[in-house]
Amino acid sequence: MATTVTLIPGDGTGPDVVAAARRVVEATGVDIIWEERLAGEAALLRVGNPLPFDTLESIRRNKVALKGPLTTPVGSGFRSVNVAIRKELDLYANVRPALSLEGARSRYEDIDLVVIRENTEDLYAGIEHMVGEDAAESIKIITRRGSERIVRFAFEYARREGRRMVTAVHKANIMKFTDGLFLRVAKEIASEYPDIRFEDRIVDNMSMQLVQKPEQYDVLVCPNLYGDILSDLCAGLVGGLGVMPSGNFGSTCAVFEAVHGTAPKYVGMNKVNPTALILSAAMMLNHLGEEEASRRITAAVRAVIAEGKTVTYDLGGHAGTREMGEAIARKIELHEV
Ligand code: NAD
Repeated sequence: MATTVTLIPGDGTGPDVVAAARRVVEATGVDIIWEERLAGEAALLRVGNPLPFDTLESIRRNKVALKGPLTTPVGSGFRSVNVAIRKELDLYANVRPALSLEGARSRYEDIDLVVIRENTEDLYAGIEHMVGEDAAESIKIITRRGSERIVRFAFEYARREGRRMVTAVHKANIMKFTDGLFLRVAKEIASEYPDIRFEDRIVDNMSMQLVQKPEQYDVLVCPNLYGDILSDLCAGLVGGLGVMPSGNFGSTCAVFEAVHGTAPKYVGMNKVNPTALILSAAMMLNHLGEEEASRRITAAVRAVIAEGKTVTYDLGGHAGTREMGEAIARKIELHEV
């Protein structure tokens, strides 16, 4: 039976990478009906609302979406639609795997890390205001419920994926109430999983350790802001934002998207790397129980990058987004993987 998936092309270079990912998913032969919906600047221009009700309803109904990046104006304008989607659908867990790819330009080899980022609380709660004209205040929210469910998600993920260790990242030495609560809860939940090693690290030390000895870490569980920053750091360990996929999970829905943004300087140039969204689509198929199709996509991506002939500029090549997606799709169709 066909599975209906909400497809959001997104802004900037989003439509380019979404088209490539769609082509690759279709090459696997998995029966998917794409329900295309608008969000972000594209939606604001067409229907006057950056997050139309109809788009949220489509994701709620289908329970799964593949989404291109969306523009968030800096400093003013509408609030982040990405954050709004995560909050509206209570997609509390963001999973960002960083895996070395042979042929991707990086100073490191054999990186295999997963950042699990809390997606709904922390400074991203968006509670901020001016205090008079020359000061501004932002409120950091950490709750027991939010911390419990993200840490439990990380341990369940580690157990399911055969991972050995979970590290909780925090700044509890300074933020004794907020990060202190997150750390206390993490330690409590860890005691329920004696088969998985648990450690904690202060976020600044964690940043240095990830650069110096990333092989010592496995699954990192982080409050929202540290997770955002550290996952870009981890992207840098494996070849950049162009290769870093992600999935956002709630209790009923899941939305898959690249970690990168709209890459505005390359709009309309068929230039950016489609790998991150293609690997996000592979995560999506895994979530839908299509493990073999997911495995083949990952293998085809790895093969095309290792060959280095049809890759985008960030991987040292001259291929366009479409050509790289096509090369990956052809490997699947020709049963080379
Ligand atoms: P960005 O990720 O768009 O770009 C950062 C750098 O990475 C740029 O040099 C860009 O050219 C490069 N890059 C990004 N994706 C790439 C790819 N697929 N292949 C090769 N190179 C790639 O980040 P930004 O410039 O800070 O943000 C631009 C816009 O995207 C902003 O409006 C921001 O709010 C939005 N954004 C959206 C999401 C999302 O939708 N989940 C995430 C991050 C940023």
